Amino acid sequence: MLIVMDRDASQPQVDRVVEVIEARGWKANIIPGGTRVSIGITHNPSAMEPHVFLMMDGVAEAIPVSKPYKLVSREVKRDDTVVKVDSDCAIGGENFTVIAGPCAVEGEESLLSVAREVKKAGATFLRGGAYKPRTSPYSFQGMRKQGLEILKKAREETGLRIITEVKDVQTLDLVAEYADVLQVGARNMQNFTLLEAVGKVDKPVLLKRGMSSTINELLMAAEYIVSNGNYRIIYCERGIRTFETITRNTLDLGAVTVLKKLSHLPVIVDPSHGLGLWYGVPPLCRAALAVGADGIMVEVHNNPLEALSDGAQSITPQRFASMMEQMRKMAPLLDKKI
Ligand code: PEP
Ligand code: MN
Repeated sequence: MLIVMDRDASQPQVDRVVEVIEARGWKANIIPGGTRVSIGITHNPSAMEPHVFLMMDGVAEAIPVSKPYKLVSREVKRDDTVVKVDSDCAIGGENFTVIAGPCAVEGEESLLSVAREVKKAGATFLRGGAYKPRTSPYSFQGMRKQGLEILKKAREETGLRIITEVKDVQTLDLVAEYADVLQVGARNMQNFTLLEAVGKVDKPVLLKRGMSSTINELLMAAEYIVSNGNYRIIYCERGIRTFETITRNTLDLGAVTVLKKLSHLPVIVDPSHGLGLWYGVPPLCRAALAVGADGIMVEVHNNPLEALSDGAQSITPQRFASMMEQMRKMAPLLDKKI
């Protein structure tokens, strides 16, 4: 149930509604944004009667929410959420956010040089994993804390915001010290302990779709984070596993339209992991813009042949720059700003 307060409802009236909800053992979630206060009720074991709330002073509407995900749903918040990263950086709304960088931080010189190039080409975020979830325990696992330090340097020099993966609860506080946006990877989309933990951190979260996860499961994963207090979530469509074997995954661009319909949170597309083949990345970035995504995340490497991870899907800074030129021309047609 969603309680929508009158435009001129007083604070004591809002407090009273919260009190009534909590007295029943349910949770009252104040929904940020919008012109009036809305309170989403969760943790109620069964449907409730709206009249209890409609009788209270200051209450305009009591709307039943039919979906299993509540706080992330459009039913609860009609307007698009713009996720504020800092005072002059936000994801969603009219912004088309471009996140670029290598799969993993591999060294200071290489990261700084990619950072300078993607910045020049128009990216606003630098990506790069310091803690890498790898299929094989024998593969490069990331530079860990040293990698975070290198990301910090790149941020200081270029002004690019940093997005990097948090792999587990143990390293969450450390990674959160360095990241502007925390990435929860596909393999962790249903790591509920991690979802709860990032829900309690005051940092935006890029939540990647699990490789075999349905849209519904992605929405429920986001609900875990929001229900723990963190409303700053961005979905990331990064491809799902299908019967196809030539491509690494199948990029589900249709999911972008569905997520936008069902939820108010922004959506970023990652064609690098979505396809796994570098030559298809620029066309799919253009497609992401066309389909209404709020941004892209692209793997860019100076020397893809030598990359320690995901070289086959990484594009060079030169290719990234020419793609950006094209996309800057496309953006105004789609009412987006790059
Ligand atoms: C990544 O972004 O480098 C990554 C590991 O992505 P995913 O979790 O989508 O596989
Ligand atoms: Mn990668």
